[in-house]
Amino acid sequence: MHTDILITDICLPGKAGDEAPISEGCCLAITGDLLEYVGPADAAQDITADTVINAHNLLALPGLVNTHCHSAMTLFRGLADDLELGEWLNRHIFPAEAANVSPDMVYWCSKLAAAEMILSGTTFVADGYFFEHEAARAFTDAGLRAVAAQAVIDFPAPGVPDPLKNIVAAEEFIAHWQGKNPHISPAIFAHSPYTCSNATLQAAKEAARKAGVLFFIHVAESPHEHILIEKPLGKSPVQHLAALDILDADTVCVHCVWTDEEDLDLLAQHQSKISICPQSHMKLASGIAPLATMLEKNIEVGLGTDGAASNNGLDLFREMDICTKLQKIRTLDPVAVPAERVWQMATAGGAAVLGAGRQNGSLAKGMKADFILIDCNSPHLQPMHGTDLLVYAADGADVQTVFINGTMVMEERKILSFDLAETLHEVRLLSRKVH
Ligand SMILES: [Zn+2]
Repeated sequence: MHTDILITDICLPGKAGDEAPISEGCCLAITGDLLEYVGPADAAQDITADTVINAHNLLALPGLVNTHCHSAMTLFRGLADDLELGEWLNRHIFPAEAANVSPDMVYWCSKLAAAEMILSGTTFVADGYFFEHEAARAFTDAGLRAVAAQAVIDFPAPGVPDPLKNIVAAEEFIAHWQGKNPHISPAIFAHSPYTCSNATLQAAKEAARKAGVLFFIHVAESPHEHILIEKPLGKSPVQHLAALDILDADTVCVHCVWTDEEDLDLLAQHQSKISICPQSHMKLASGIAPLATMLEKNIEVGLGTDGAASNNGLDLFREMDICTKLQKIRTLDPVAVPAERVWQMATAGGAAVLGAGRQNGSLAKGMKADFILIDCNSPHLQPMHGTDLLVYAADGADVQTVFINGTMVMEERKILSFDLAETLHEVRLLSRKVH
């Protein structure tokens, strides 16, 4: 069999029942944008390729999936730390956005985020912001796979000064990107039930349904939201969305920290997905999402970093470690949501949240060739008794090489798909105007 790229001498994580946690001396072959072969070298002896790469025993893993980010907010990283969500948003973030968000800013700062994500092993991100056209362009140029969602909010917003036009703007964005680029899937991101009227929420969901795209919304992030919604309406934020017919299998509810059994039953019934952002929840003191209960109810849950202003990094390895440990604290149960389950959330589970579980999130023949190679020779990754170590001890800097859609976008920690120095320069120029 002839393929485009054959990577020899890789390690693969062992399967259930294997004696060793890692299988050495394996191969991985790529044809076009798909994995053609992943497995032991002795079964790959008839595979030839245009390009053969010796991986020198690096460990191949599926690329990580970040199910919630506002990439352009890298510009506001560290601008306003240690504040309560309402004050952080209303006194700092919304004014900074009003003064600084421009097409240029979204392009360069999303590209900076793309670099940070690729360098830490993320190959697929769900992004939501203003001027999302520019974010989608940045992801295209960076070679990062993305669900790019145009933001809808009932305020005059960057790029959409008249809120009455927010749905039309989202529809135009979708029409522009649908089917244009295999890397990019357009979507709609309604900011929240407290910044969007009922009519806006329904119209935004209707537009997403009509176009067959995902719909994202921040829900039940802080107790304050319950005061804003539950007091006047007598319904929890999730019940409010259910009553408006917003929930279905293509709706991704972000955060869901303040959800009870009834809310989670509603989300499960509608097969809606959840994205949790543990470090953002910690930093804004939002709370700890009831992840164990979400998983008990068979809800598909992915991990997100949220924007860099509320995290302040975009490294999903850090997010995985913190996610599993936080659940142990919440439940006072050390076996609650084990590392293996969180690894699944950051890979195949995240892809399923983004409606792409059949193409992304695992290393197998026929899946998209989105994968990372990790150097396990670092002291903090030895000895490797099991792959749980990747969750508890690895970090983004252990990722050596990244392939997305069959293309090498980072090699030995150097971004190949674009000029990172130029992006850093442009972001520094933009950052001088902030304040
Ligand atoms: Zn968010």
